Amino acid sequence: MDEKQSTIVIVSNRLPVKIVRTGKKSELIPGSGGLVTAFAPVLRDRGGIWIGWDGDASGQSHKKLFTKESTAIGYLLRPVSLTPLEVQLYYEDFSNGTLWPLFHDFLDRCQFQPETWDMYCSVNKKFAHAVANNSNPGDLIWVQDYHLMLVGKCCAELGIKRKTVFFLHIPFPPWDLFMRLPWCKEIIDGILHYDLIGFQTERDRWNFIRCVRRLFPGALVSGPQRSQLIEYDGRITRVGAFPISIDFEGFNQHASSQEVADEAWYIHERLPERKLVLGVDRLDYTKGILERLKAFEILLEKYPDIHDKINFIQVVVPSRTNVKEYQEMKCTIDETVGRINGRFTHHDWVPIHYIYRNVSRRELVAYYRTSEIALITPLKDGMNLIAKEYCASSVETDGVLILSEFAGAAQQMGKSSLLVNPFHVEAVADQLHKAYYMDEGERKSRMRKLRAEVRRNNIFRWMEHFLSAAGMPLPKPHSTSTDSSDD
Ligand code: UDP
Repeated sequence: MDEKQSTIVIVSNRLPVKIVRTGKKSELIPGSGGLVTAFAPVLRDRGGIWIGWDGDASGQSHKKLFTKESTAIGYLLRPVSLTPLEVQLYYEDFSNGTLWPLFHDFLDRCQFQPETWDMYCSVNKKFAHAVANNSNPGDLIWVQDYHLMLVGKCCAELGIKRKTVFFLHIPFPPWDLFMRLPWCKEIIDGILHYDLIGFQTERDRWNFIRCVRRLFPGALVSGPQRSQLIEYDGRITRVGAFPISIDFEGFNQHASSQEVADEAWYIHERLPERKLVLGVDRLDYTKGILERLKAFEILLEKYPDIHDKINFIQVVVPSRTNVKEYQEMKCTIDETVGRINGRFTHHDWVPIHYIYRNVSRRELVAYYRTSEIALITPLKDGMNLIAKEYCASSVETDGVLILSEFAGAAQQMGKSSLLVNPFHVEAVADQLHKAYYMDEGERKSRMRKLRAEVRRNNIFRWMEHFLSAAGMPLPKPHSTSTDSSDD
């Protein structure tokens, strides 16, 4: 590539677009997640590039489509094509079958197969080649998440001299767990090739430092806790915690809109005189959906005073629908919901409303706004954005957040929420009962603090903090944050 102005190159497993086919024509539909919201304006300003897998598991190349459509998106998209075997071994088996369960403390679900590790290394190299072909010296290469932990090292091996930084969106496991991975040393060595490593929480950062110390006793760790430096093999890596967030104002404004107010009114109108408890999760064993259903069952068993007066709305977003383990999990959830409803339903009161599909943003925000209680109890979660979106959408400032102590979000939101151990289902039931009867003064006081926290530490601020630690501060503030707590 020719020399040009330095830019930001985002590298992630998937590009932030979907290929949609209508008849013979294909087009790109931009994604709408929090990351895209944060990155897009910066990439547009700087003429940035996003490198990622195009999501087509058939291995077909879509290069032409991306060249044509990128202009509409405002920054360049550079697809990496993966063969079906690469998708299987690198993505399904090693990323989702080894790293995902291991990093979420589910050792018994981990598979350790050398051929999947080999493919993980080889696909990381493939991404590094894409970086080499699409960047210039002086550019910042920002690699995302557990699928691509070795890209920094692979770039160095290709002789590309770029500043490369990395953010891990999922938790980093404690040493006792991490050491079980046969390739644990190679992973840490790979990560130590980045100039900056960002974790979601201090706990993750601390776990990582401990693993570095155990595996590389010669590494020198220095600096203040919040921003440590690791010196190893002639390289210096900065390590910090950067809790990811959401576009607070985006949710706040949408929740205040007439269309959401109408939808929220409609939801509650159908369930009069009831308090609504909301759960929203992608289908995954880390989310604790079954434990949560059990907790709700105990609540109904133990506290008949709230029968007829409460509904649990559980939204489950389909995920990995082609994987047997996930299909079985869905069947168990279906059965459990049916069993609990069969046990407690009477007259027109059906205690659990179960939604298994993607919901529209309007519907989701309406549920956030109108639900008196959010029950967010993952068994382990990097952050959990649902908790933050719920607070940003609670415009009446009277919702109660019940939050798992094992969600990354608990570090910032634990004090003003009702913190629970999701494995302790009796205690979760008791906290639900407490939330049900919590007086308005306490609800408002807690929710105001939660909203102020999410408003201040929003996704734009996250981006500013990370880029400034990477030595590439943004030229003008992109943050929509104010420190006011006008709620
Ligand atoms: N979400 C979605 N479709 C839905 C319901 C929710 O895309 O039907 C979004 C939701 O707005 C949130 C994300 O899914 O931004 C879930 O993020 P979280 O961090 O809670 O969990 P993850 O799925 O990333 O593990």
